[in-house]
Amino acid sequence: MTAEMSALRRFLHWGPITAISIIKCITLTTLYMNSMWWPPNESFGAFAHQALFLLLSMLATFNYVMATISGPGLLPKRWEPENPKDKEFLQYCKECEGYKAPRSHHCRKCNRCVKKMDHHCPWINHCVGWQNHAYFSYFLLFSILGSLHGSVVLSFAFYRGIYRYYYLTHGLAHLASVQFTVASIIMCILGMGLAIGVVIGLSMLLYIQLKTIVINQTGIEIWIVEKALYRRYRAESTDDAFVYPYDLGWRENLRQVFNEECQKRGDGIEWAVAKGCDQYTLTREQLAQKQEKRARTRIYKCTAPVSGRWLPIHSQGWRVCISAPCTDEPRIRLQPEDIIKVTRFRRHWLFGERVLSELEQQQKQQRKGYIRGWFPRRCVVALSESQEDDASETTKNSKSATGNGNGHSHGHSKQQQQQQRNGHSKKYM
Ligand SMILES: [Zn+2]
Ligand SMILES: [Zn+2]
Repeated sequence: MTAEMSALRRFLHWGPITAISIIKCITLTTLYMNSMWWPPNESFGAFAHQALFLLLSMLATFNYVMATISGPGLLPKRWEPENPKDKEFLQYCKECEGYKAPRSHHCRKCNRCVKKMDHHCPWINHCVGWQNHAYFSYFLLFSILGSLHGSVVLSFAFYRGIYRYYYLTHGLAHLASVQFTVASIIMCILGMGLAIGVVIGLSMLLYIQLKTIVINQTGIEIWIVEKALYRRYRAESTDDAFVYPYDLGWRENLRQVFNEECQKRGDGIEWAVAKGCDQYTLTREQLAQKQEKRARTRIYKCTAPVSGRWLPIHSQGWRVCISAPCTDEPRIRLQPEDIIKVTRFRRHWLFGERVLSELEQQQKQQRKGYIRGWFPRRCVVALSESQEDDASETTKNSKSATGNGNGHSHGHSKQQQQQQRNGHSKKYM
């Protein structure tokens, strides 16, 4: 019961409700207008035409439902690699109380580690990942084709309907088949707008998805690779060029997602890798990036309330507003005394993660809003220049200043981190 119920509950959310409503609205409007423009009982061609449209609509719906129900493939809670020695190459997820398998990432919305996570899609109210990558791509493809078909039918029907009077008065009565009422003209215009919108919006999404699949690099991995290259560029090191391990050539990359069974390959944990790489090539790079990030981290304390607005003109003034960072990353809300671990620095803005207060940790209830994001620099003061001592200091004070909800393990030295991991693994063995 629980599995089916939770699958059904996935649909009770604004994303799926809106998506299904849009699909159905386009389908029904097109069928209605088509019944006047080119009635399917008129000829075999007309019948085949409508059948094709219905097929596209059904395939879009089927793949949508399958992408939502099957989900991305969740990593089992408390997962550990078979060989305990491999733990040192992996990140620990506090939320799932287990290690993150290669290519797995923790999704805050799903609150689980997701295999080969690409992104969390509110429209399917689930992540797109290892298990539903194919369904999701097919859904995009058939929605685009169906909506394109629908928008053509609706445009022609609209034209005929508008010129109905002209046809009737010029002896072209056989063309005056489309008759509008107030309701149907509104439906037709709405349907056309939705269909064209779907074609444009989903085409861009499909393009991104196909690119992701052809290079076998998820949205998250593109970001990791970018950082890997930048790290080497900055260090001016040429001896250890970074090789992305999962690129097997475009044919094999495509085959990993699309195959006869329309199903995933393998178990989503162990992945085929390119020559010279192993299962942990990417995770080792991720750990190294985390470590560098920790070394950059500075601790700040909030001194004045931060509204979390994008352009806090009232509280911060124009100087802060015009230098607001041009990204779609969240802005965070802060209260005086909050502690923030800052990792990126601008003149008027800082990017960081708010350390959960002890009260929040005890009650396991986070204050509303994001905990990672940008905020104006003038509302905080730096607590330290040398972050390493400070970070461990903070840890001692509040047990786990590292509690952050994104599941990344933030130890303070490699040794401490290792101890922390061993502690965890013992606890759950
Ligand atoms: Zn997790
Ligand atoms: Zn998710």
